[in-house]
Amino acid sequence: MQIQEITELIRINGQDSEKTTQLISELTTQKDWDKIYQISEFFGQEISILVDAQERIFVDWGSISRVELTPPLGSVVPFKLWLHTHPRNQAFWSETDQYSLFIAERILEQAIVLGMDGILSTSNTNLLELKPSIDQSCWTLEQVTAWS
Ligand SMILES: [Zn+2]
Repeated sequence: MQIQEITELIRINGQDSEKTTQLISELTTQKDWDKIYQISEFFGQEISILVDAQERIFVDWGSISRVELTPPLGSVVPFKLWLHTHPRNQAFWSETDQYSLFIAERILEQAIVLGMDGILSTSNTNLLELKPSIDQSCWTLEQVTAWS
């Protein structure tokens, strides 16, 4: 589905509709981060996605820089992924994000932030079989991967 078609469907159905949640869930399953970022930029709103231990996907919309990692009701830890967007901004770990990662040290395996410059990912060396980081953090330090 083209991005224009997706944004039009979301506009018609509403951001919190089941149809929209289903659409974004499908893009998450397909790891179509590019489209998720474009949707977020189109509406000028952050999108936060959580994939729980049972592969259930929770989608949340927020205003810019207001999205935090909040475990949804009924979700099961450890979470496989927390992804959120920084529409019209860079991909980086904001102070709020760093705090979320800090409190999620035992319940989250991977985090991704999408910005206009690309994709930034971090993995939890506490929960995944990875080499511990050199700094004190359990989160791997990675570079932004530019959009292709
Ligand atoms: Zn953020």
